[in-house]
Amino acid sequence: MHILITGGAGFIGSHMADYHIARGDTVHVVDNLSTGCRSNIAHLLNSPNFHFSKADLLVWDKLQSAIEAADRIYHLAAVVGVKLVLQDPVRVMSTNMAGTERLIRAVHKGGGNPQVVVASSSEVYGFNEAEAFDENCDLVLRSGGRLRWSYAVTKLADEYLAFAYARKYDLNIAIARLFNTVGPRQSGVYGMVVPTFVHQAVRHQPITVYGDGQQTRSFSDVRDTVTALDLLASCPAASGEVVNIGNEQEITIEALARLIKERAASRSELHFISYHEAYGEEFDDVSHRRPILDKLRALTGYRAQWVLRDTIDEMIALEIQIIESAS
Ligand code: UDP
Repeated sequence: MHILITGGAGFIGSHMADYHIARGDTVHVVDNLSTGCRSNIAHLLNSPNFHFSKADLLVWDKLQSAIEAADRIYHLAAVVGVKLVLQDPVRVMSTNMAGTERLIRAVHKGGGNPQVVVASSSEVYGFNEAEAFDENCDLVLRSGGRLRWSYAVTKLADEYLAFAYARKYDLNIAIARLFNTVGPRQSGVYGMVVPTFVHQAVRHQPITVYGDGQQTRSFSDVRDTVTALDLLASCPAASGEVVNIGNEQEITIEALARLIKERAASRSELHFISYHEAYGEEFDDVSHRRPILDKLRALTGYRAQWVLRDTIDEMIALEIQIIESAS
């Protein structure tokens, strides 16, 4: 099978590439290396089945031919991370919406009807105060132009672009609402909590818990997320559907900090920081973000294989290697 992965040098995309190369597929990654990095795919560059194009999806001149060569496309290219969204909302809006529009238009023009998965995000559930979310929950976005919601707006636009093309032209497009995903190669630079806490814990620095730490998240290991994305792409009944992907085990951010501290045998103290101090005026945090996965299971039979503690142990071991190789 010939696979095209946009954003394939990023955290999830590079694991997606690993997965398909291991299965004997041919993989073409396109990435502008803005938040993705070459080191995530360095181990694949010598594989005869792997092709990499450093290019921006908005202007890439090979997009049409790459799409026409693909049996399956994972569209993961996007500007992500709360800090980046607050810093550069213009880039978020243009990359995330115009890139998706250009890609789906090219799929339609190509006429080959490949399997397409478009990555959306649990951010679209917005400020909905539900304890857990299924795909029919209302999407509650704040009024008043708070930039924090720019990312959610772009992902919602992507979902509706995909719906529109899938329905009007009978294209084979599934939409994945990805909840928090964690694992090796995830960077804390753009604010993601698990790599940030791991980085702090192994260096015995204060662990920065925002708010009172009682907000909860559910973390899916990236290898489980990749399996779920493959199952979704392979499932004809998922075409034209929006489907949650994540993990149903929930943990408070304070408990997460304590777990990482314990697993790293760290001397770090927990340091509670107000949202205002952490993110500035613009910020609304979401109290809970747990997916209901009934639809994913019904469509694909998906079951998670990883537990959070094992993912954290692996991330700690890799972080220790980084420290040791630098010294
Ligand atoms: N968070 C934290 N300390 C950090 C980074 C994040 O307490 O150094 C909190 C953040 O406020 C949120 C949770 O961890 O409540 C998850 O944050 P992340 O940005 O990883 O994901 P998202 O908020 O998009 O679910």
